[in-house]
Amino acid sequence: MEGRYRILVVDDDRGMLMLLRQKLRKAGFEVVISHNSMDALRILSEEDNIDLIICDIMMPEMDGYEFRRRLLDNPHSRDIPFIFLTARADPADQVKGFRMRVDDYITKPFQPDVLLARARSVIERHEAYREMMITDSLTGLLNRKAIEERIGIELKRIQRYNEVCSIVFIDIDDFKHVNDTYGHEAGDGVLVELAGLLRRELRNTDYIGRYGGEEFLVCLVNTGKAVAVKVVERLLSVFREMAIGEDAIRCTFSAGIASAPEDGMEFDVLCRKADEAMYISKKEGKNRVTPWQEGGEGHL
Ligand code: GH3
Ligand code: MG
Ligand code: MG
Repeated sequence: MEGRYRILVVDDDRGMLMLLRQKLRKAGFEVVISHNSMDALRILSEEDNIDLIICDIMMPEMDGYEFRRRLLDNPHSRDIPFIFLTARADPADQVKGFRMRVDDYITKPFQPDVLLARARSVIERHEAYREMMITDSLTGLLNRKAIEERIGIELKRIQRYNEVCSIVFIDIDDFKHVNDTYGHEAGDGVLVELAGLLRRELRNTDYIGRYGGEEFLVCLVNTGKAVAVKVVERLLSVFREMAIGEDAIRCTFSAGIASAPEDGMEFDVLCRKADEAMYISKKEGKNRVTPWQEGGEGHL
């Protein structure tokens, strides 16, 4: 599992770098080494997949404190997990280190197995936070910020490779009525069931997010508009047949679809068009799927 984690080790002592590289590699980590802070800053500006930095303090030119200060000043490096590994064992030094918001402070000489365990613990904790930051707690889907980001990245990717994708805006019909009739908890149950349905029915390469209260946003990867309409109609037909919870609640949704590149290449444009198309579905009686089309706004 550690195979995918990449650790940057910064130390001016070559012997220490070799030792750490060997131990970390043996434990399954990928290792990038750097002999000084300037070089490490360059590596960090070129690579965005460093999962942990292990850094010495006493180094010529730029010491570990200054290096850490520079990382904290930069939004791109501020939150990369960071451990000081140093011969400075004084309590005052350790306090100074922790004031720089580091994740751990390990003194030399160290037990390699303990260093590995602490490094792993720091990485796993950060991973858990990262997961929490992107997840909608009720449904376990991507949250609004995360789905926006993922779709943004996907749009860049399809531009580069000349591919297509479709953005689907889904809004549950008369959801206020569900809450009013069966209570808020039962309403939550409907949201969870719809999330489960989307996860089951869609490909695991698609992106699925909860965009707002009873609104969901989906990105169907590698899927043009005509196929997307078929896919979402299938989702709707499964959803409307479901009897949810103890009250066997029945629901429908309205959906709108916009596709890239034909309707645009920007997230904001596609999302707005998918939302407009969803509103046409509402206007025309709900419980249906509408692909965005030029002039279609006239139906609003
Ligand atoms: P329409 O068919 O036009 O979409 O009507 P609607 O009632 O679904 O839409 P409206 O926007 O009027 O109401 C949405 C409701 O969703 C109101 C709000 O209380 C409820 N809601 C939003 N978030 C949650 C949630 O997390 N849980 C529950 N149970 N209800 C929620
Ligand atoms: Mg709504
Ligand atoms: Mg609604």
